[in-house]
Amino acid sequence: MTKTCFGCLAKFKKTTDAPIPHPYIGAIAECWDVYGEILNKEFSDPAYFKVHRTTVDAYGAQHIGSREDRRARQSANVHLIALYLTVSKKASREETLMFIRNATKIKRDWPSLIQRKSPEWLTVQDIVKADNPLSHAHLVTRWGQSIWEAYEDCHEDIIRTYKKVMREN
Ligand SMILES: [Zn+2]
Repeated sequence: MTKTCFGCLAKFKKTTDAPIPHPYIGAIAECWDVYGEILNKEFSDPAYFKVHRTTVDAYGAQHIGSREDRRARQSANVHLIALYLTVSKKASREETLMFIRNATKIKRDWPSLIQRKSPEWLTVQDIVKADNPLSHAHLVTRWGQSIWEAYEDCHEDIIRTYKKVMREN
């Protein structure tokens, strides 16, 4: 039996009865575990850690959670905008971090993102296969790009939200 993650829609063969692992990141435990493996690699080797910012933003933007939950809407928007900055604008890590700090300084409301129906994006299943830092970095970059592309119909709105946040700070 396989289980499908309701965020990234990846399928998992090794299943568990563990509960939903995070209060607002919309992922199932099986997906969260594989994400944990990827984070472990990054935290235990500086060469893997180089793309950590993109890893966190890719995962957050792919698991948008409940549209009713303000924290979920904030997480989804902030991570997706951060991907826009690194992937599309080639912003530095510092610029992206500055946006994230500004965006989360006050408790603001965020528009809800709509779950992708059949996205052609990479998932943790692809990223976890990397067996060296170079291939990890390539995969994570492609992961981020594939997610940004999957939201193509929302690009204008997302960029508008980004500009609004920057104006308000
Ligand atoms: Zn997932």
